[in-house]
Amino acid sequence: MQSIYYDRATDLVHALQLGQQPGARYIGGGTNLLDLMKGDVEHPSRLVDISRIGLDQIAELPDGGLRIGALARNSDMADHALLRQRYPLLAQALLSGASPQLRNMATAGGNLLQRTRCPYFTDTAFDQCNKRKPGSGCAAQQGYNRMHAVLGASAACIAVHPSDMCVALAALDATVVAAGPRGERRIAIADFHRLPGSTPQQDTTLAPGEMVTAIDLPAVSAAPFAQHAHYLKLRDRASYAFALVSVAALLEMDGARVRQARVALGGVAHKPWRLPAAEALLAGQPLSDARSRQFAAQLMAGAKGYPGNQFKIELAQRAIVRALNLAAAGTAGEQA
Ligand code: SF4
Repeated sequence: MQSIYYDRATDLVHALQLGQQPGARYIGGGTNLLDLMKGDVEHPSRLVDISRIGLDQIAELPDGGLRIGALARNSDMADHALLRQRYPLLAQALLSGASPQLRNMATAGGNLLQRTRCPYFTDTAFDQCNKRKPGSGCAAQQGYNRMHAVLGASAACIAVHPSDMCVALAALDATVVAAGPRGERRIAIADFHRLPGSTPQQDTTLAPGEMVTAIDLPAVSAAPFAQHAHYLKLRDRASYAFALVSVAALLEMDGARVRQARVALGGVAHKPWRLPAAEALLAGQPLSDARSRQFAAQLMAGAKGYPGNQFKIELAQRAIVRALNLAAAGTAGEQA
């Protein structure tokens, strides 16, 4: 049996001190880490409980943006009046994830940092998994790969990031705030999660000992997308299931024309997938199925499927067209 030390941090400085100890891991809601510890996948020798250090607030920033504390619960975010009013896409995405019980425990920071649900990663009965055991191989490539990546994968790993929240954050151009021994730094959401490359064991660009302290959403004046936002999630059952494909679509409309578009995909890559250069195809143009289809083809360019997930390449393109139409119509979130 392995001993695990438990420390409860009293404030951020204390948490960062405790987090520098060898084998230490921060724990907030624990909805993912505890599962992985029970499954013998994660083995921290010390847990630093950060749930009472006061980072659970959601507050307007002086520039009109919104700061979400890293310890804010998913359910509190989804219910927050200002967040729902200004960033309905994020509320839709949050409510499409997990279950009410899990959303009551899971935190914003933990959602960012949650690990893939690839079954070869979460079940140690399987020997081959480069993410869990670097150098051991990737069983998913010859095995079950229905839920796996079709974009940005590598020879080492074809896992996907499981979060819905992060897909909305990618479309919203959020910024992750992190604190560590060298002080605070801000990381664009596009640079926070990694593609697997040859080191799939690293999910993010956080340095050892760093901790996520907040997520900043840009001011509404910089993102006038609230009226035309839609999060479309396609999955195998109506609730409590990860996305086969999801689409976070934000449009700024000028009558029937698209002034600006931002589209991020979930369920297709090791990180939320977004290509800002392709979004220029939609700007200044009336939205039509033909143009949306052309955009979808660009967003999915280079996609590579496996026998179990080849269907995702066409499914994602159809979902993009549908999400754009629903965003343009100003519909509320729809799950499928
Ligand atoms: Fe492991 Fe990634 Fe392969 Fe899954 S896809 S078995 S997480 S290396």
